[in-house]
Amino acid sequence: MNIWNSFTSFFSQDMAIDLGTANTLVYVRGRGIVLNESSVVAIEMINGNTNVVAVGNEAKVMMGRTAGNIECIRPLRDGVIADIDIAEKMIKHFIKKVQTSRFGRYPQIIVCVPSGSTSVEKRAIRDAASNAGASKVYLIEESMAAAIGAGMPVTEPVGSMVVDIGGGTTEVAVLSLKGLAYTTSVRVGGDKMDEAIVNYVRRNHNLLIGEMTAERIKKEIGTAKPPADGIGMTIDIKGRDLMNGVPNEIQISQAQIAEALAEQVATIVQGVRAVLENIQPELAADIVDQGIVLTGGGALLANLDVVLRESTGLPVSVADEPLNCVAIGTGRALEDPMYRGVLISA
Ligand code: ADP
Ligand code: MG
Repeated sequence: MNIWNSFTSFFSQDMAIDLGTANTLVYVRGRGIVLNESSVVAIEMINGNTNVVAVGNEAKVMMGRTAGNIECIRPLRDGVIADIDIAEKMIKHFIKKVQTSRFGRYPQIIVCVPSGSTSVEKRAIRDAASNAGASKVYLIEESMAAAIGAGMPVTEPVGSMVVDIGGGTTEVAVLSLKGLAYTTSVRVGGDKMDEAIVNYVRRNHNLLIGEMTAERIKKEIGTAKPPADGIGMTIDIKGRDLMNGVPNEIQISQAQIAEALAEQVATIVQGVRAVLENIQPELAADIVDQGIVLTGGGALLANLDVVLRESTGLPVSVADEPLNCVAIGTGRALEDPMYRGVLISA
């Protein structure tokens, strides 16, 4: 390495981006995770032009509370890229935000894309990162990144099963020898759970609540399994009463939230079982020994691991830092040459 190279690599800001449907994380070589924000963009239409008002966490707090011609958009909702122009604006904003120096060579960027994305969408993401100043863009499959981040032996001839429960989708995959041996994507994740809570409260209590409130209820008392005493914890929630149209407050129990989430939980269980039924017997044997690892924010839903353990009879564990697993795994793929073989081209 000549002096110029070592000088510029000192300033290099190679990065790994976990472009999630709910959260985007950026990992910078040698520094770790430096950005963790909601995948939300607030825009305003002025004379037919789209004007970005806020991006990330700042835009998320505006959700459900916008006025005038401001609109909050989640460009990756449902696990596919719903709005590529807005997605590109968001990616560029985050890349710019973490860049501390204007000097040094253009960075290399690895982007983790939702597995459901088409090749057109993958190319669009790659172009967005190139336009934001990357010298080279690599892509990595979400499940692969999640498994690396969870410390699973994906480069070895051993089957590793990872279930990544994100905002838009649940990705179930079995990996071996740097590749995906089997994968399936279920259109259920944290968003559908929030919607289920909104619907449940409306149907059973005539109360209309927003998605943000539903998400908070899920995080505070949500559970995949009804509590043993038939009630569990309770929480007060506020919304608009549909009978008389005014704001109101009611109390809701953990048992009721478990009931609201039952269908979504069952769909995730079915997705996992479908993969187990379809993989090669040697890989199935590995999973009996190694167990299933849960990643993504949905892995934090209380008792989801217990329900999966009971329905498969296999060991099930939640990864450390499930919300950061994909970013950590993508970061490792950036830093460790051992993982070069797992990167894909668009
Ligand atoms: P994505 O990769 O799609 O951006 P994440 O892995 O970041 O998704 O997970 C975000 C989802 O996890 C959101 O739907 C959020 O509500 C959910 N989540 C976060 N914490 C919890 C929790 N404690 N219990 C249940 N769900 C949670
Ligand atoms: Mg994710």
